[in-house]
Parts: sequence; C-alpha cells; structure tokens
Amino acid sequence: MENEKGLCPSANFGMNGEKVFGMLGGSLGDRRVIYLKQAVPVQQIDPAKLNGIRPSEVFRTAGRCVGSECANHDSASDQCSLVNRIVDKVSPGTEELAYCAIRPDCVWWHQQGGDACLRCAKVITQDLLAPADIAEARLPAGHR
Ligand code: SF4
Repeated sequence: MENEKGLCPSANFGMNGEKVFGMLGGSLGDRRVIYLKQAVPVQQIDPAKLNGIRPSEVFRTAGRCVGSECANHDSASDQCSLVNRIVDKVSPGTEELAYCAIRPDCVWWHQQGGDACLRCAKVITQDLLAPADIAEARLPAGHR
C-alpha cells in the first residue's frame, strides 16, 4: 500500500485528492466511470479548462485515506463505511473487473475486494443526478 491507510478512491479534487484515475463517461441513461491507464497528478490538470464544471462532477480522484477525520470512517471496525454501504445497497454495474490504476493501494479493494470494484464505476464523487440506491448508500449512519 502507498501509505498505512491506503488510497481513498472517492477523494475530493482540490482537497485530499492527489491523482485522477477515472473520468465520467457513458451516456445520460448509463453514466459510468472510465478508468485511466495511468493516474494523473491533480497538479497536471487545470480546472479552469472545465468551463465551470466542478472537477468532482467528472473526475474520480484518489487521495490518502484520512481515517477518523472522514465522516464515512467507522471507528468500531476501523473501516470505510461508505464502501460497505455501496456493496450492500447498490447492484453491480458490470460482471468483470475493469483495469484500475490504483487497485494495489485502494482502500475499497482491500476492504471489499471485487464486490467494490464491480460497483465502483457507478460512483461519481459529486453526483447531481445520483440514482436512489447510490444516493442512499452515500449517506453516513445518522444522516437519513
Ligand atoms: S474499488 Fe476497485 S475499481 Fe474502484 S478505485 Fe478501488 S480498485 Fe479501482
């Protein structure tokens, strides 16, 4: 793993996000993340070129897991509760694992294995059109 906690695959560009590893693709009715062959450091991307679209609406960015500083951290299990809810509430978006440049360091992969990856492409960090299952999965306990 890249650091003790590994990489969060749902980090925020401009906050703890360090490298972009996926981009929003597909169609309006079938939006999905397209995984890049190689992750790109955020410093190499100029958000001003997105013409007002927020990077977190179109990029998946990985960054160091901040553990207990994150609203999705479950202190009892010392796990990411977000990926547990995603696996629990969201159906797989594919039957085969896509290539993913951050897999060796990904917290979600280390915690839920392929069950996380099969749903991961449905996750858009800042999703203004989130389907009901994703919207429910992203709410930490106590926020429903
Ligand atoms: S859950 Fe799987 S596909 Fe998603 S970022 Fe982690 S390793 Fe990549």
